Amino acid sequence: MLLEVEGLCVNYGRIEAIRDISFGVPENSVVTLIGANGAGKTTTMKTVSGLHPVRAGKIVFDGEDITNMAAHKRVELGIGQAPEGRGVFPGMSVMENLEMGAYFRKDRKVTVPKDLERVFTLFPRLKERASQAAGTMSGGEQQMLAIGRALMGRPKLLLLDEPSMGLAPKLIAQIFAIIREIHGQGVTILLVEQNAAQALKTADHAYILETGEIVRDGSGSDLAADDSIRAAYLGGD
Ligand code: ATP
Repeated sequence: MLLEVEGLCVNYGRIEAIRDISFGVPENSVVTLIGANGAGKTTTMKTVSGLHPVRAGKIVFDGEDITNMAAHKRVELGIGQAPEGRGVFPGMSVMENLEMGAYFRKDRKVTVPKDLERVFTLFPRLKERASQAAGTMSGGEQQMLAIGRALMGRPKLLLLDEPSMGLAPKLIAQIFAIIREIHGQGVTILLVEQNAAQALKTADHAYILETGEIVRDGSGSDLAADDSIRAAYLGGD
């Protein structure tokens, strides 16, 4: 397993947002956490990336216990993230945002040009808009930039928090195609989504979160074919 989460509990004050969840992300896989609003998806992501403390449980990445490790150290170890709501630096240009994604790399003089080329190949729009202020880009473009910025750090594990949020159906399909392409390049992906249909299509394995607990898990295709999952998460179609 590249990422192992065991018995994770996370609180906001006295509110138990995550209760004793365990899941694993095997190397080279796409794993998705699916759940309704408030299920605890974002909290789980923030805890894995080190932006929120753990109340109980353990997080192991690449064989190392990272449960209490600072967020920036996790980035250096190879955990990259494109956060919910994009989180790009609005006043900086597209190019500056991408460069920020590589700021911690010691070899960046060598890697940045290569990695920029990779990102621009995945997202030609970002190349066209390289000098535009990130805050003036459309929602879809900002999502692409957030993913591109995370890739600039050459992550082993990419955390994607609701990449399809707020996007038109055509753009959603495009974002998921790019996620599959990034996976094809050897990046392991943990994907959090409300868009269960697309996420199950893309994922090797899926976990269903309900009010802070994992209630089901299975292969993406098995869950997509399951009647109760279809009724609850796929609008019954
Ligand atoms: P969404 O898809 O709506 O973002 P989510 O599955 O990502 O939902 P979380 O944002 O992780 O859910 O929230 C899980 C629970 O924790 C919710 O009940 C939420 O109200 C609560 N919560 C989240 N952030 C805070 C906070 N800063 N303070 C108090 N409670 C919080």
